[in-house]
Amino acid sequence: MNNIAKLGQEFGQYVIQLTSELLVKTGQPKSLSDMERNIRHMLLKLGQFLLSAWLALQENGYPPETSPCPQCGGPASYQFKRSASLLTLLGQVEYSRAYYLCPACQQGHCPLDQKLGLRPGQISAELESLTGMTGAQLPFGQSGQLFEALTLVSVSDHTVAKATQAMGGEVQSQEAEWIAQSRDEAWLQEQQRLAERPARLYGALDAAKVHIRGEKEHPWRDLKVGAWFTTTVEPPQNPDDEWQIQATDISYYCDIREAQQFGELVWATGCQRQAQLAQKLIFLGDGAEWIWNQVREHYPEAIQIVDWFHATEYIAPVATAALATEGQQQTWIKQVRTDLWNGDLDAVIAALARFTDHQRATEAATKAVTYFTHNRQRMDYPTYRAKGYQIGSGTIESGCKQIVSQRLKVAGAIWQFDNCIQTAKARAALLSGQWQAISARREHLSLPLAV
Ligand SMILES: [Zn+2]
Repeated sequence: MNNIAKLGQEFGQYVIQLTSELLVKTGQPKSLSDMERNIRHMLLKLGQFLLSAWLALQENGYPPETSPCPQCGGPASYQFKRSASLLTLLGQVEYSRAYYLCPACQQGHCPLDQKLGLRPGQISAELESLTGMTGAQLPFGQSGQLFEALTLVSVSDHTVAKATQAMGGEVQSQEAEWIAQSRDEAWLQEQQRLAERPARLYGALDAAKVHIRGEKEHPWRDLKVGAWFTTTVEPPQNPDDEWQIQATDISYYCDIREAQQFGELVWATGCQRQAQLAQKLIFLGDGAEWIWNQVREHYPEAIQIVDWFHATEYIAPVATAALATEGQQQTWIKQVRTDLWNGDLDAVIAALARFTDHQRATEAATKAVTYFTHNRQRMDYPTYRAKGYQIGSGTIESGCKQIVSQRLKVAGAIWQFDNCIQTAKARAALLSGQWQAISARREHLSLPLAV
Protein backbone atom coordinates (compact mmCIF):
# COMPACT_ATOMS: atom_id res chain seq x y z
CA MET A 1 0.00 0.00 0.00
CA ASN A 2 2.93 2.25 0.77
CA ASN A 3 4.17 1.82 -2.77
CA ILE A 4 0.79 2.63 -4.20
CA ALA A 5 0.37 5.71 -2.01
CA LYS A 6 3.78 6.93 -3.19
CA LEU A 7 2.91 6.31 -6.81
CA GLY A 8 -0.43 8.05 -6.33
CA GLN A 9 1.38 11.09 -5.03
CA GLU A 10 3.81 11.11 -7.96
CA PHE A 11 0.93 10.67 -10.35
CA GLY A 12 -0.91 13.61 -8.77
CA GLN A 13 2.12 15.83 -9.15
CA TYR A 14 2.55 14.72 -12.72
CA VAL A 15 -1.11 15.51 -13.48
CA ILE A 16 -0.69 18.99 -12.00
CA GLN A 17 2.43 19.57 -14.06
CA LEU A 18 0.79 18.40 -17.31
CA THR A 19 -2.39 20.35 -16.56
CA SER A 20 -0.49 23.54 -15.98
CA GLU A 21 1.49 23.04 -19.20
CA LEU A 22 -1.74 22.43 -21.04
CA LEU A 23 -3.90 25.18 -19.58
CA VAL A 24 -1.50 27.90 -18.59
CA LYS A 25 1.87 27.71 -20.24
CA THR A 26 0.73 27.08 -23.81
CA GLY A 27 -1.60 30.09 -23.58
CA GLN A 28 -4.89 30.28 -25.37
CA PRO A 29 -5.51 27.34 -27.68
CA LYS A 30 -6.24 28.36 -31.25
CA SER A 31 -9.21 26.04 -31.61
CA LEU A 32 -11.15 23.19 -30.09
CA SER A 33 -9.24 20.79 -32.36
CA ASP A 34 -6.00 22.11 -30.93
CA MET A 35 -7.26 21.40 -27.44
CA GLU A 36 -8.51 17.93 -28.38
CA ARG A 37 -5.09 17.04 -29.76
CA ASN A 38 -3.26 18.46 -26.74
CA ILE A 39 -5.44 16.60 -24.27
CA ARG A 40 -5.04 13.40 -26.19
CA HIS A 41 -1.26 13.69 -25.99
CA MET A 42 -1.53 14.39 -22.29
CA LEU A 43 -3.70 11.33 -21.76
CA LEU A 44 -1.14 9.24 -23.58
CA LYS A 45 1.61 10.48 -21.26
CA LEU A 46 -0.55 9.69 -18.23
CA GLY A 47 -1.18 6.24 -19.63
CA GLN A 48 2.55 5.64 -20.03
CA PHE A 49 3.10 6.72 -16.45
CA LEU A 50 0.45 4.33 -15.15
CA LEU A 51 1.65 1.43 -17.24
CA SER A 52 5.26 1.89 -16.06
CA ALA A 53 4.04 2.21 -12.47
CA TRP A 54 2.00 -0.97 -12.78
CA LEU A 55 4.97 -2.86 -14.23
CA ALA A 56 7.12 -1.64 -11.33
CA LEU A 57 4.54 -2.95 -8.84
CA GLN A 58 4.62 -6.41 -10.41
CA GLU A 59 8.27 -6.80 -9.58
CA ASN A 60 9.37 -8.16 -6.22
CA GLY A 61 11.38 -5.53 -4.29
CA TYR A 62 13.91 -8.12 -3.12
CA PRO A 63 14.38 -10.65 -5.92
CA PRO A 64 15.07 -14.27 -4.86
CA GLU A 65 18.65 -15.49 -5.28
CA THR A 66 17.71 -18.05 -7.90
CA SER A 67 14.99 -18.73 -10.45
CA PRO A 68 14.48 -21.95 -12.46
CA CYS A 69 16.15 -21.71 -15.88
CA PRO A 70 13.53 -21.95 -18.66
CA GLN A 71 16.00 -23.89 -20.82
CA CYS A 72 17.41 -26.60 -18.51
CA GLY A 73 15.35 -26.25 -15.31
CA GLY A 74 18.49 -25.74 -13.18
CA PRO A 75 18.89 -22.79 -10.76
CA ALA A 76 19.74 -19.56 -12.58
CA SER A 77 21.30 -16.90 -10.35
CA TYR A 78 20.16 -13.34 -9.89
CA GLN A 79 22.44 -10.84 -11.62
CA PHE A 80 20.98 -7.34 -11.52
CA LYS A 81 17.94 -5.26 -12.45
CA ARG A 82 17.86 -5.00 -16.17
CA SER A 83 15.89 -2.30 -17.94
CA ALA A 84 13.92 -2.75 -21.12
CA SER A 85 11.35 -0.95 -23.19
CA LEU A 86 8.11 -2.02 -24.79
CA LEU A 87 6.18 -0.37 -27.56
CA THR A 88 2.59 -0.44 -26.28
CA LEU A 89 -0.76 1.02 -27.21
CA LEU A 90 0.23 3.93 -24.97
CA GLY A 91 3.57 4.43 -26.71
CA GLN A 92 7.06 3.53 -25.55
CA VAL A 93 7.14 2.31 -21.92
CA GLU A 94 10.30 1.71 -19.89
CA TYR A 95 10.52 -0.79 -17.06
CA SER A 96 13.10 -2.75 -15.15
CA ARG A 97 13.05 -6.26 -13.74
CA ALA A 98 15.27 -8.91 -12.21
CA TYR A 99 17.62 -10.65 -14.61
CA TYR A 100 18.90 -14.20 -14.02
CA LEU A 101 21.69 -16.13 -15.69
CA CYS A 102 21.99 -19.90 -15.74
CA PRO A 103 25.56 -21.05 -14.93
CA ALA A 104 24.98 -24.38 -16.68
CA CYS A 105 23.65 -23.27 -20.06
CA GLN A 106 24.42 -19.55 -20.05
CA GLN A 107 20.76 -18.80 -20.77
CA GLY A 108 19.54 -15.47 -19.41
CA HIS A 109 15.92 -14.85 -18.42
CA CYS A 110 13.58 -12.42 -16.67
CA PRO A 111 10.78 -14.15 -14.73
CA LEU A 112 8.53 -11.08 -14.97
CA ASP A 113 8.64 -11.16 -18.79
CA GLN A 114 7.59 -14.78 -18.73
CA LYS A 115 4.87 -14.27 -16.17
CA LEU A 116 3.23 -11.36 -18.00
CA GLY A 117 4.02 -12.37 -21.58
CA LEU A 118 6.15 -9.25 -22.08
CA ARG A 119 8.17 -8.87 -25.23
CA PRO A 120 11.14 -6.60 -24.42
CA GLY A 121 12.30 -4.47 -27.32
CA GLN A 122 9.18 -5.37 -29.28
CA ILE A 123 5.53 -4.47 -29.50
CA SER A 124 3.08 -5.55 -26.84
CA ALA A 125 0.44 -8.18 -27.53
CA GLU A 126 -2.30 -5.54 -27.47
CA LEU A 127 -0.50 -3.33 -29.95
CA GLU A 128 0.17 -6.36 -32.12
CA SER A 129 -3.52 -7.23 -32.14
CA LEU A 130 -4.61 -3.72 -33.14
CA THR A 131 -1.90 -3.07 -35.73
CA GLY A 132 -2.54 -6.57 -37.09
CA MET A 133 -6.22 -5.75 -37.40
CA THR A 134 -5.35 -2.60 -39.33
CA GLY A 135 -3.10 -4.58 -41.65
CA ALA A 136 -5.82 -7.15 -42.22
CA GLN A 137 -8.09 -4.32 -43.41
CA LEU A 138 -5.73 -2.11 -45.38
CA PRO A 139 -2.68 -2.42 -47.62
CA PHE A 140 0.42 -2.29 -45.40
CA GLY A 141 1.64 0.86 -47.18
CA GLN A 142 -1.40 2.79 -45.94
CA SER A 143 -1.89 1.25 -42.54
CA GLY A 144 0.96 2.73 -40.46
CA GLN A 145 -0.13 6.28 -41.20
CA LEU A 146 -3.78 5.64 -40.34
CA PHE A 147 -2.86 3.80 -37.17
CA GLU A 148 -0.74 6.68 -35.95
CA ALA A 149 -3.45 9.22 -36.72
CA LEU A 150 -5.97 7.25 -34.69
CA THR A 151 -3.85 6.19 -31.73
CA LEU A 152 -0.91 8.68 -31.68
CA VAL A 153 1.40 5.67 -31.55
CA SER A 154 3.86 5.65 -34.39
CA VAL A 155 4.38 2.26 -36.01
CA SER A 156 6.10 1.51 -39.30
CA ASP A 157 4.32 -0.20 -42.19
CA HIS A 158 6.77 -3.04 -41.65
CA THR A 159 5.60 -3.43 -38.04
CA VAL A 160 2.00 -3.57 -39.24
CA ALA A 161 2.87 -6.22 -41.82
CA LYS A 162 4.73 -8.29 -39.23
CA ALA A 163 1.85 -8.06 -36.76
CA THR A 164 -0.72 -9.06 -39.38
CA GLN A 165 1.38 -12.04 -40.40
CA ALA A 166 1.90 -13.03 -36.77
CA MET A 167 -1.88 -13.07 -36.33
CA GLY A 168 -2.24 -15.15 -39.52
CA GLY A 169 0.46 -17.46 -38.16
CA GLU A 170 -1.60 -17.86 -35.02
CA VAL A 171 -4.60 -18.84 -37.15
CA GLN A 172 -2.34 -21.46 -38.77
CA SER A 173 -1.37 -22.92 -35.41
CA GLN A 174 -4.99 -23.00 -34.31
CA GLU A 175 -5.89 -24.80 -37.53
CA ALA A 176 -3.11 -27.31 -36.92
CA GLU A 177 -4.66 -28.04 -33.51
CA TRP A 178 -8.09 -28.39 -35.09
CA ILE A 179 -6.71 -30.79 -37.70
CA ALA A 180 -5.14 -32.93 -34.97
CA GLN A 181 -8.41 -32.87 -33.04
CA SER A 182 -10.44 -33.82 -36.11
CA ARG A 183 -8.32 -36.97 -36.51
CA ASP A 184 -8.70 -37.97 -32.89
CA GLU A 185 -11.31 -40.70 -32.63
CA ALA A 186 -11.84 -40.10 -28.90
CA TRP A 187 -12.45 -36.40 -29.42
CA LEU A 188 -14.90 -37.10 -32.24
CA GLN A 189 -16.83 -39.55 -30.09
CA GLU A 190 -16.95 -37.02 -27.29
CA GLN A 191 -18.43 -34.53 -29.73
CA GLN A 192 -21.02 -37.01 -30.82
CA ARG A 193 -22.03 -37.56 -27.22
CA LEU A 194 -22.02 -33.98 -25.98
CA ALA A 195 -22.31 -31.52 -28.84
CA GLU A 196 -25.56 -30.05 -29.93
CA ARG A 197 -26.51 -31.20 -33.40
CA PRO A 198 -27.03 -28.19 -35.68
CA ALA A 199 -30.45 -28.40 -37.32
CA ARG A 200 -29.32 -26.95 -40.63
CA LEU A 201 -25.79 -25.91 -41.50
CA TYR A 202 -24.42 -24.61 -44.79
CA GLY A 203 -20.95 -25.11 -46.20
CA ALA A 204 -19.59 -23.36 -49.27
CA LEU A 205 -16.33 -23.54 -51.20
CA ASP A 206 -14.73 -21.38 -53.86
CA ALA A 207 -11.32 -20.23 -55.08
CA ALA A 208 -9.74 -17.05 -56.44
CA LYS A 209 -6.36 -16.26 -57.99
CA VAL A 210 -3.58 -14.43 -56.19
CA HIS A 211 -0.27 -13.23 -57.61
CA ILE A 212 2.77 -14.90 -56.02
CA ARG A 213 6.30 -13.52 -56.32
CA GLY A 214 9.10 -15.59 -57.76
CA GLU A 215 6.92 -18.34 -59.20
CA LYS A 216 7.90 -18.08 -62.85
CA GLU A 217 5.80 -20.94 -64.16
CA HIS A 218 2.63 -20.36 -62.15
CA PRO A 219 2.62 -16.84 -60.70
CA TRP A 220 -1.15 -16.98 -60.21
CA ARG A 221 -2.15 -19.46 -57.55
CA ASP A 222 -5.57 -20.52 -56.36
CA LEU A 223 -6.44 -19.34 -52.90
CA LYS A 224 -9.17 -21.71 -51.84
CA VAL A 225 -11.80 -20.27 -49.53
CA GLY A 226 -14.39 -22.06 -47.45
CA ALA A 227 -17.30 -20.82 -45.36
CA TRP A 228 -19.64 -22.27 -42.78
CA PHE A 229 -22.83 -20.40 -42.06
CA THR A 230 -26.46 -20.58 -41.15
CA THR A 231 -29.43 -18.74 -42.60
CA THR A 232 -33.17 -18.90 -42.22
CA VAL A 233 -33.85 -16.91 -45.37
CA GLU A 234 -35.23 -18.96 -48.25
CA PRO A 235 -34.75 -18.23 -51.93
CA PRO A 236 -37.41 -16.06 -53.63
CA GLN A 237 -40.40 -17.44 -55.53
CA ASN A 238 -39.14 -16.01 -58.77
CA PRO A 239 -35.45 -15.80 -59.80
CA ASP A 240 -35.83 -12.14 -60.76
CA ASP A 241 -37.22 -11.13 -57.37
CA GLU A 242 -34.97 -9.50 -54.84
CA TRP A 243 -32.56 -12.06 -53.49
CA GLN A 244 -31.24 -12.06 -49.96
CA ILE A 245 -29.20 -14.69 -48.20
CA GLN A 246 -28.56 -13.00 -44.85
CA ALA A 247 -26.02 -15.50 -43.62
CA THR A 248 -25.34 -15.49 -39.91
CA ASP A 249 -22.66 -17.09 -37.80
CA ILE A 250 -20.23 -17.11 -40.72
CA SER A 251 -16.77 -18.61 -40.33
CA TYR A 252 -14.30 -18.34 -43.20
CA TYR A 253 -11.09 -20.29 -43.71
CA CYS A 254 -8.63 -20.29 -46.61
CA ASP A 255 -5.30 -21.57 -47.89
CA ILE A 256 -3.17 -22.09 -50.97
CA ARG A 257 -3.08 -25.87 -51.10
CA GLU A 258 -3.93 -28.77 -53.32
CA ALA A 259 -7.54 -29.87 -52.99
CA GLN A 260 -6.65 -32.98 -50.98
CA GLN A 261 -4.77 -31.03 -48.29
CA PHE A 262 -7.35 -28.29 -48.29
CA GLY A 263 -9.92 -31.01 -47.65
CA GLU A 264 -8.29 -31.62 -44.24
CA LEU A 265 -9.12 -28.03 -43.37
CA VAL A 266 -12.67 -28.43 -44.67
CA TRP A 267 -13.09 -31.39 -42.33
CA ALA A 268 -11.26 -29.83 -39.36
CA THR A 269 -13.10 -26.49 -39.48
CA GLY A 270 -16.33 -28.43 -40.01
CA CYS A 271 -15.71 -30.40 -36.81
CA GLN A 272 -15.53 -27.07 -34.94
CA ARG A 273 -19.02 -26.30 -36.24
CA GLN A 274 -20.31 -29.86 -35.66
CA ALA A 275 -20.90 -30.16 -39.40
CA GLN A 276 -20.46 -33.93 -39.21
CA LEU A 277 -23.38 -34.05 -36.77
CA ALA A 278 -25.70 -31.64 -38.58
CA GLN A 279 -29.22 -32.90 -39.16
CA LYS A 280 -29.13 -31.20 -42.56
CA LEU A 281 -25.81 -30.25 -44.14
CA ILE A 282 -26.02 -28.33 -47.39
CA PHE A 283 -23.03 -27.54 -49.58
CA LEU A 284 -23.05 -24.76 -52.15
CA GLY A 285 -20.43 -24.22 -54.82
CA ASP A 286 -19.86 -23.58 -58.48
CA GLY A 287 -19.26 -26.52 -60.81
CA ALA A 288 -15.55 -26.96 -59.97
CA GLU A 289 -14.62 -30.62 -59.75
CA TRP A 290 -12.35 -30.31 -56.68
CA ILE A 291 -15.19 -28.87 -54.60
CA TRP A 292 -17.53 -31.79 -55.10
CA ASN A 293 -14.74 -34.35 -54.70
CA GLN A 294 -13.94 -32.94 -51.26
CA VAL A 295 -17.58 -32.73 -50.25
CA ARG A 296 -18.16 -36.33 -51.33
CA GLU A 297 -15.07 -37.52 -49.48
CA HIS A 298 -15.71 -35.79 -46.16
CA TYR A 299 -19.46 -35.34 -46.10
CA PRO A 300 -21.00 -38.07 -48.27
CA GLU A 301 -24.45 -37.40 -46.78
CA ALA A 302 -24.45 -33.67 -47.55
CA ILE A 303 -26.89 -32.17 -50.02
CA GLN A 304 -24.91 -30.76 -52.94
CA ILE A 305 -26.25 -27.66 -54.69
CA VAL A 306 -24.70 -25.75 -57.57
CA ASP A 307 -25.13 -22.07 -56.87
CA TRP A 308 -27.98 -20.66 -58.95
CA PHE A 309 -26.03 -17.61 -60.13
CA HIS A 310 -23.03 -19.61 -61.34
CA ALA A 311 -25.34 -21.92 -63.24
CA THR A 312 -27.14 -19.08 -65.03
CA GLU A 313 -23.85 -17.52 -66.14
CA TYR A 314 -23.49 -20.25 -68.75
CA ILE A 315 -26.69 -19.28 -70.56
CA ALA A 316 -26.23 -15.72 -71.85
CA PRO A 317 -22.91 -16.26 -73.72
CA VAL A 318 -24.62 -18.88 -75.90
CA ALA A 319 -27.48 -16.51 -76.72
CA THR A 320 -25.20 -13.59 -77.60
CA ALA A 321 -23.06 -15.77 -79.86
CA ALA A 322 -25.91 -17.60 -81.59
CA LEU A 323 -28.84 -15.22 -81.91
CA ALA A 324 -28.96 -12.09 -84.04
CA THR A 325 -31.14 -9.56 -82.26
CA GLU A 326 -31.26 -8.53 -78.65
CA GLY A 327 -34.98 -9.33 -78.56
CA GLN A 328 -34.36 -12.93 -79.67
CA GLN A 329 -31.55 -13.28 -77.18
CA GLN A 330 -33.64 -12.04 -74.26
CA THR A 331 -36.58 -14.29 -75.08
CA TRP A 332 -34.34 -17.32 -75.39
CA ILE A 333 -32.44 -16.57 -72.16
CA LYS A 334 -35.69 -16.09 -70.26
CA GLN A 335 -37.02 -19.44 -71.44
CA VAL A 336 -33.83 -21.36 -70.54
CA ARG A 337 -33.62 -19.66 -67.14
CA THR A 338 -37.24 -20.55 -66.42
CA ASP A 339 -36.62 -24.18 -67.39
CA LEU A 340 -33.59 -24.25 -65.11
CA TRP A 341 -35.56 -22.67 -62.26
CA ASN A 342 -38.22 -25.34 -62.74
CA GLY A 343 -35.60 -28.07 -62.74
CA ASP A 344 -36.28 -29.14 -66.33
CA LEU A 345 -32.66 -29.99 -67.09
CA ASP A 346 -33.64 -31.97 -70.19
CA ALA A 347 -35.12 -28.83 -71.72
CA VAL A 348 -32.11 -26.72 -70.67
CA ILE A 349 -29.60 -29.14 -72.17
CA ALA A 350 -31.67 -29.58 -75.35
CA ALA A 351 -31.90 -25.81 -75.85
CA LEU A 352 -28.13 -25.41 -75.50
CA ALA A 353 -27.35 -28.50 -77.60
CA ARG A 354 -29.13 -26.89 -80.57
CA PHE A 355 -26.14 -24.54 -80.88
CA THR A 356 -23.19 -26.90 -80.37
CA ASP A 357 -22.67 -26.97 -84.17
CA HIS A 358 -23.41 -23.29 -84.61
CA GLN A 359 -20.66 -21.35 -86.34
CA ARG A 360 -20.14 -18.76 -83.62
CA ALA A 361 -21.64 -20.47 -80.57
CA THR A 362 -19.95 -23.90 -80.67
CA GLU A 363 -17.54 -23.17 -77.85
CA ALA A 364 -19.98 -21.55 -75.42
CA ALA A 365 -22.73 -24.07 -76.17
CA THR A 366 -20.47 -27.13 -75.80
CA LYS A 367 -19.11 -25.77 -72.52
CA ALA A 368 -22.61 -25.17 -71.22
CA VAL A 369 -23.92 -28.59 -72.27
CA THR A 370 -20.98 -30.29 -70.51
CA TYR A 371 -21.50 -28.16 -67.40
CA PHE A 372 -25.23 -28.82 -67.08
CA THR A 373 -24.83 -32.52 -67.89
CA HIS A 374 -22.13 -32.98 -65.21
CA ASN A 375 -23.94 -31.04 -62.54
CA ARG A 376 -27.59 -31.85 -63.22
CA GLN A 377 -27.92 -33.84 -59.99
CA ARG A 378 -27.01 -30.69 -58.11
CA MET A 379 -29.57 -28.49 -59.86
CA ASP A 380 -32.87 -29.83 -58.62
CA TYR A 381 -33.91 -26.29 -57.74
CA PRO A 382 -37.68 -26.87 -57.29
CA THR A 383 -37.03 -29.56 -54.65
CA TYR A 384 -34.49 -27.39 -52.83
CA ARG A 385 -36.90 -24.45 -52.81
CA ALA A 386 -39.73 -26.64 -51.56
CA LYS A 387 -37.55 -27.68 -48.63
CA GLY A 388 -36.49 -24.09 -47.99
CA TYR A 389 -32.81 -24.63 -48.84
CA GLN A 390 -30.79 -21.63 -49.89
CA ILE A 391 -29.54 -22.04 -53.47
CA GLY A 392 -27.37 -18.92 -53.77
CA SER A 393 -23.75 -19.08 -52.62
CA GLY A 394 -23.44 -15.33 -52.11
CA THR A 395 -21.78 -15.85 -48.72
CA ILE A 396 -18.71 -17.51 -50.17
CA GLU A 397 -18.55 -15.05 -53.08
CA SER A 398 -18.58 -12.24 -50.59
CA GLY A 399 -15.85 -13.99 -48.57
CA CYS A 400 -13.67 -14.39 -51.66
CA LYS A 401 -14.26 -10.78 -52.62
CA GLN A 402 -13.40 -9.46 -49.17
CA ILE A 403 -10.32 -11.62 -48.72
CA VAL A 404 -8.93 -11.67 -52.24
CA SER A 405 -10.19 -8.71 -54.32
CA GLN A 406 -10.37 -6.17 -51.51
CA ARG A 407 -7.15 -7.06 -49.72
CA LEU A 408 -4.80 -9.41 -51.58
CA LYS A 409 -5.25 -7.94 -55.05
CA VAL A 410 -5.14 -4.25 -54.19
CA ALA A 411 -2.97 -2.11 -56.43
CA GLY A 412 -1.63 -5.11 -58.32
CA ALA A 413 0.06 -6.54 -55.22
CA ILE A 414 2.51 -9.42 -55.73
CA TRP A 415 2.94 -11.55 -52.62
CA GLN A 416 5.61 -13.60 -51.03
CA PHE A 417 3.97 -17.02 -50.59
CA ASP A 418 3.86 -17.27 -46.75
CA ASN A 419 2.94 -13.61 -46.27
CA CYS A 420 0.06 -14.04 -48.67
CA ILE A 421 -1.36 -17.00 -46.80
CA GLN A 422 -0.92 -15.42 -43.38
CA THR A 423 -2.48 -12.13 -44.42
CA ALA A 424 -5.39 -14.02 -45.99
CA LYS A 425 -5.89 -16.10 -42.84
CA ALA A 426 -5.72 -13.02 -40.62
CA ARG A 427 -8.39 -11.36 -42.74
CA ALA A 428 -10.56 -14.48 -42.73
CA ALA A 429 -10.35 -14.57 -38.92
CA LEU A 430 -11.31 -10.92 -38.73
CA LEU A 431 -14.30 -11.41 -41.04
CA SER A 432 -15.38 -14.41 -38.97
CA GLY A 433 -15.46 -12.50 -35.69
CA GLN A 434 -12.48 -14.55 -34.48
CA TRP A 435 -10.06 -11.68 -33.86
CA GLN A 436 -10.43 -11.61 -30.09
CA ALA A 437 -9.98 -15.36 -29.83
CA ILE A 438 -6.79 -15.25 -31.93
CA SER A 439 -5.47 -12.26 -29.96
CA ALA A 440 -6.16 -14.04 -26.67
CA ARG A 441 -3.99 -16.95 -27.80
CA ARG A 442 -1.04 -14.55 -28.17
CA GLU A 443 -1.64 -12.53 -25.05
CA HIS A 444 0.55 -14.58 -22.71
CA LEU A 445 3.14 -15.38 -25.30
CA SER A 446 6.41 -13.86 -24.14
CA LEU A 447 9.11 -13.65 -26.76
CA PRO A 448 12.73 -14.61 -26.16
CA LEU A 449 15.01 -12.04 -24.59
CA ALA A 450 17.18 -10.36 -27.16
CA VAL A 451 20.76 -10.70 -25.84
ZN1 LIG B 1 20.00 -23.48 -17.86
